[in-house]
Amino acid sequence: MKTILRGGYVVSGRSCRRADVLIDGEQITQVGHLDETAGARVIDVKDCYLFPGFIDAHTHFALDVCNTTTADDFASGTYSALRGGTTTVIDFACPDKGETLRHALALWHGKADGKCYCDYGFHMTIDDWNEQIERELDEMIDEGITSFKMYLTYPAMMLPDGDIYRALTALRKRGGICGFHCENAGVIDARIEELKAGGHGADVYAHPLSRPDYLEAEAVARLLRIAQAADCPVIIVHTTNRAALREIEAARKRGQTVYSETCPQYLLLDDSVYYAGDYSMAARYVCAPPIRSKADAEALWRALRHDRVQTISTDHCAFTLAQKEMGREDFTKIPGGLPGVETRGELIYTAGVAQKRLGLRGMCRALSENPAKLYGLYPRKGIIAPGSDADIVVYDPHASHILRAQDLSSKAGYTPYEGFRTEGAVSQVFLRGTLAVNGGTVIGAPNGIYLKRNLCSL
Ligand code: MN
Repeated sequence: MKTILRGGYVVSGRSCRRADVLIDGEQITQVGHLDETAGARVIDVKDCYLFPGFIDAHTHFALDVCNTTTADDFASGTYSALRGGTTTVIDFACPDKGETLRHALALWHGKADGKCYCDYGFHMTIDDWNEQIERELDEMIDEGITSFKMYLTYPAMMLPDGDIYRALTALRKRGGICGFHCENAGVIDARIEELKAGGHGADVYAHPLSRPDYLEAEAVARLLRIAQAADCPVIIVHTTNRAALREIEAARKRGQTVYSETCPQYLLLDDSVYYAGDYSMAARYVCAPPIRSKADAEALWRALRHDRVQTISTDHCAFTLAQKEMGREDFTKIPGGLPGVETRGELIYTAGVAQKRLGLRGMCRALSENPAKLYGLYPRKGIIAPGSDADIVVYDPHASHILRAQDLSSKAGYTPYEGFRTEGAVSQVFLRGTLAVNGGTVIGAPNGIYLKRNLCSL
């Protein structure tokens, strides 16, 4: 079946121009001025922006963590994603220490296959290093897993510096790429002890106090020196603050390839969320790294504008308010993470494009084009062009609505952006040529497919 989207503005990382789009089956076949094509249905998207389907390269669905399980599984998570214009998610497969990568991959396929409403892929977490895992890297890349993740914090997942160096060296030889969670583990643990001894064990604001910006920057700096030794490009995931950005810039000046990701919560919110309101209000914002200052948020917008931050993902890791109660007596037991997979596009358009902090093209790069290139999906994803998958977000800049948890699909049951008025709205979403969301309604059954990804091309 052929479909023409008529009268919209096609957005790419380089341009925004009026053009019609012809979809044939699952792919885009023409972009430009199109006359009536026999047998094609015509959908009027006059004056709407057409973005390549958004890619969320940082989600945690169906994850057992913090002595509980995330509220969203792959069904509710990808349903939520699709409604917000995200047509591809990349989730983190995570073996326990001692397990094989192959085992974790099979586990994640079991969680996701047949349940996803949008297309999906996996990053693989490396939380152990030995000859078996090194050999498995080749197998992972054959399976389309070209990106990995390591942690500089959390005892269950962190690796010593030497193993990070060995793993990065092995990845460099294969053209793989790795994202890093950068926070200093030891000093944060010592500060947690101090805060508890000082009577702050039940105070949510002890969470940001225990994990200051400079301990994130320290870990970024150390990791980037290890990456320098291994001569391997790396990604700093969820970059939150100015000190960390300065370390990233310093490494780039030395000639290193460093990519940076940030998330909507670090761009739109500030650390007052931990001090205002009662326990339940504050706990819903607990995530690591924590939300920083207004000045840090503005610095992140500036960095996005200048292409010093390449991607905006969500780190969607949803817990219900009942789950967040687990930390009422001990702030370290608050499950860490925020829901966000559904709201990213409208938030970034509203706070970025409409507020003139980021252009339409910059939004397209951060949400679609750059993640597609970085994670080996370009040009199948990340661009509206002949030959690409017809993943298209129709964004109506003249619409507006108020974000309310009751209208969202995440099983978190709350949104960090309750009451936020959007500029514009996602009005339709096409997934590989099929109209999958119309006016907020998801049409049809789970239709997402697993994506085998190529090597990084950013
Ligand atoms: Mn994460």
